[in-house]
Amino acid sequence: MRDISHFIDGASVAGTSGRYADVFNPNTGEVQARVALATEAEIGAAVASAVRAQQTWALVNPQRRARVMFEFKRLVEARIDELAELLSSEHGKVVADSKGDIQRGLEVIEFACGIPHALKGEYTEGAGPGIDVYSMRQPLGVAAGITPFNFPGMIPMWMFGIAIATGNTFILKPSEKDPSLPVRLGELMMEAGAPKGVLNVVHGDKAAVDAILDHPDIKAVSFVGSSDIASYVYSRGTANGKRVQAMGGAKNHGIILPDADLEQATKDIIGAAYGSAGERCMALPVVVPVGKHTADEVRERVLAEIETLKVGISTDAAAQYGPVVTAAHRQRVEDYIQLGVEEGAELVVDGRGFKLQGYENGFFIGPTLFDQVKPAMRTYQEEIFGPVLQIVRAETFEEALELPSSHQYGNGVAIFTRNGRAAREFAARVNVGMVGINVPIPVPVAYHSFGGWKRSAFGDVNQHGMEGVRFYTKVKTITARWPEGSVEDSAFVIPTMQ
Ligand code: NAD
Repeated sequence: MRDISHFIDGASVAGTSGRYADVFNPNTGEVQARVALATEAEIGAAVASAVRAQQTWALVNPQRRARVMFEFKRLVEARIDELAELLSSEHGKVVADSKGDIQRGLEVIEFACGIPHALKGEYTEGAGPGIDVYSMRQPLGVAAGITPFNFPGMIPMWMFGIAIATGNTFILKPSEKDPSLPVRLGELMMEAGAPKGVLNVVHGDKAAVDAILDHPDIKAVSFVGSSDIASYVYSRGTANGKRVQAMGGAKNHGIILPDADLEQATKDIIGAAYGSAGERCMALPVVVPVGKHTADEVRERVLAEIETLKVGISTDAAAQYGPVVTAAHRQRVEDYIQLGVEEGAELVVDGRGFKLQGYENGFFIGPTLFDQVKPAMRTYQEEIFGPVLQIVRAETFEEALELPSSHQYGNGVAIFTRNGRAAREFAARVNVGMVGINVPIPVPVAYHSFGGWKRSAFGDVNQHGMEGVRFYTKVKTITARWPEGSVEDSAFVIPTMQ
């Protein structure tokens, strides 16, 4: 059995806990490797390495740190085929989608290449007589990232790209379900010229996460995963005095107004609902057509599109999506489908029991469609995270606006319409963090920032863009006076600009 090791202080380090998690090949259902789960001491060793490295890394000038990012980007791009196949072999998403996963991460690295500009502070000349005020952004020290299985390339890069470029060192605790790509990224960061200890990759489960949350030398924790764990990470991390951003689950709605281009909207929704087997936090698992006519037409069009969908192994270039990540996850999705039936939704297409010829033990689920889903149903209120699309019919614009606005999750939402006024009003009023207008998956570009509302994100600062720079730095503001002539007596009242 192949063992997947930690990457600490620039070297591969075998785990010592004696505890391991299985890493599957979701296409075949076989266990292909096991990954070591870290102890508190192993987290401690990674932090000690990161603390040592940070002292000199913070002194490297921003332009030189940016050069490491340029080189990292070049190295990853040169190996993108190999890295995407590695990702797919553990996650199950199709290789083209894995390339997209890595590419979206690289776009944050591209943003980080401009860090000298982003780190420039503010300056006020003559804030008072002979007084100048300026501010600078300094790194926090050691930061940590805890990431989910569904984007093992993009999400680690969201975090460490900006953390490292701003002068921090980093501990990455990736998902134990697909840990190999994050280790390769750690190795490539060293090859790109980052000193050892600048990026450490430590595998683990709750024990490793708790050790990160309790370690006094870790100053900031970025988490992405499901909401209950995000909430736990946020509470425990902030109680320990850390800066924490914790992104959680999602249930994104696609609103279709009667005047939309229904052909395009349906194609967009199919891709956003079933792509990556629905295992995206920006997937669109709920479609809300407004009016009976729109709903009936969308249903017919979705059904026709489902007929043409091809589910296959992740290396099948003709497949639109592959298996889900584990047998346990497939069971969870299938249990939700059963619950939907019991709750009284209309199961129009049932993807349970889907078998791919030659890969009968793979973790596949066929595309599934529900109609007549009601807001009181648990299958509507909770995140399913599989290839399951639910139609929730609305009568009016206001009813459609209310659905995502009052849902417990508020990650993304999309509206499909030709009416600019309706789209504008929807975007302004909807109680959700990221909005697409005729864009089904509105993941913001790297120089904007990513973050949902309500139970989709705990903490105040988003991922990447200038929000990321703010998260990984603290502001120091200097008020300087160089008096001419005699030195005045000290003032004992607070200085004002009166
Ligand atoms: P998860 O919550 O199971 O795991 C996330 C991380 O937490 C992993 O590193 C895991 O090892 C760790 N973890 C697991 N159990 C833990 C525990 N009891 N205590 C502490 N840490 C623990 O999530 P997942 O299944 O890997 O990913 C899917 C979830 O992530 C979905 O809910 C999805 O919506 C969400 N997600 C959100 C975003 C976003 O930006 N909002 C992006 C991607 C995924």
